[in-house]
Amino acid sequence: MKLNSNFKNIKESYLFAEVAKRTCDYAKAHPDKKIIKLGIGDVTLPLAPAVIKAMHEAVDEMSKSETFKGYGPYEGYEFLRENIKNYYASFGVSVESDEIFVSDGAKSDLGNILDIFSKDNTVLVTDPVYPVYVDTNLMDGRKIVLANATEENGFLPMPDYSIKADIIYICSPNNPTGAAYTKVQLKEWVDYANKLGAVILYDAAYECFIEDNNLARSIFSVDGAKTCAIEFCSFSKMAGFTGTRCGYTVVPKALQCDGLNANKMWFRRQATKFNGTSYVVQKGAAAVFTKEGMKQIRENLGYYKRNAKLISDCMDRLKIWYTGGKNSPYIWIKCPNNMGSWEFFDYLLNNAQVVGTPGAGFGANGEGFFRLTAFGSKQSTQEAITRIEKLLGEL
Ligand code: PLP
Repeated sequence: MKLNSNFKNIKESYLFAEVAKRTCDYAKAHPDKKIIKLGIGDVTLPLAPAVIKAMHEAVDEMSKSETFKGYGPYEGYEFLRENIKNYYASFGVSVESDEIFVSDGAKSDLGNILDIFSKDNTVLVTDPVYPVYVDTNLMDGRKIVLANATEENGFLPMPDYSIKADIIYICSPNNPTGAAYTKVQLKEWVDYANKLGAVILYDAAYECFIEDNNLARSIFSVDGAKTCAIEFCSFSKMAGFTGTRCGYTVVPKALQCDGLNANKMWFRRQATKFNGTSYVVQKGAAAVFTKEGMKQIRENLGYYKRNAKLISDCMDRLKIWYTGGKNSPYIWIKCPNNMGSWEFFDYLLNNAQVVGTPGAGFGANGEGFFRLTAFGSKQSTQEAITRIEKLLGEL
């Protein structure tokens, strides 16, 4: 046998391991100090009561032969896909329920979707980037080119017609930078992709944080996107499903090339390699879209958004440049005094006992930047910004 030698090209992801190691070393050396973690990308609030109720009911259904469910549809239950379709309609986007595929989360779909694309496609990702896009393509041996996201372009690079790409990744609102494209800006990407005959893999995992109507909740709010884009979405950040696992992918029927239809191929791929998300979880996900469920998840999202505002207001007072914080749970700050990302990490840990994520871990353009997240508790976020303000105010 031969193992996939492309794995040799994947860098060891030492970012979160190194963050954990430095934090742990500091905690051991200073057992009296209380460390606050604003580095995590995981949610902290529990599932909404409406979701829990629906899941309990679904478990009870599983206990009786009359209501027991075995294998479900590969593409997800109709009740959930209908709800998702109506959710899209609520912000003015029309998708068909047979364009929606339910899964166990956006990360799996982002990796698995590559099964329907040829390995000789060239891939365009931003730098800095959510590492999954890079590593999944390196595993397949695809060539990767970079679009520079920088302070100058507000970490929102626009298409460059001198760069030829076949698969384009866009994440908006972005992880790690929190920056989000307007519909007008996305239209330029859609035009570029259609012109090139490329596909945009659009990661909308954080769409639920968008409040500004000029920003796109979905790439399908842009004319022309149905012929060039696939959208990935998740219940993880929207409804706290990081441990429960559910997401969905929208593959338009109009997306085709060389007599092949992406929607049909994705169905075929899922039918071959995936036996569906559990019934109990899909029932819980469907409850997110009930009146009660929506109200409850909006309260939770409001909680994280207020944390984001606490952090971004603090950066405003300190006159520190940042992206995100609004329409995003991430605040991507420029390290003060030209510190490097890791230098600032150590500085903040040693002097304020606050942990964030060094931007350099997301790509070369992340050097000199630092990611803070709004997913902590209100109390710890408040305490962290008090400490940060005191420390950086003295610089
Ligand atoms: N896409 C982005 C940009 C993310 O930040 C994350 C999780 O942090 C995911 C996708 C993964 O989502 P899921 O939990 O649905 O797999």
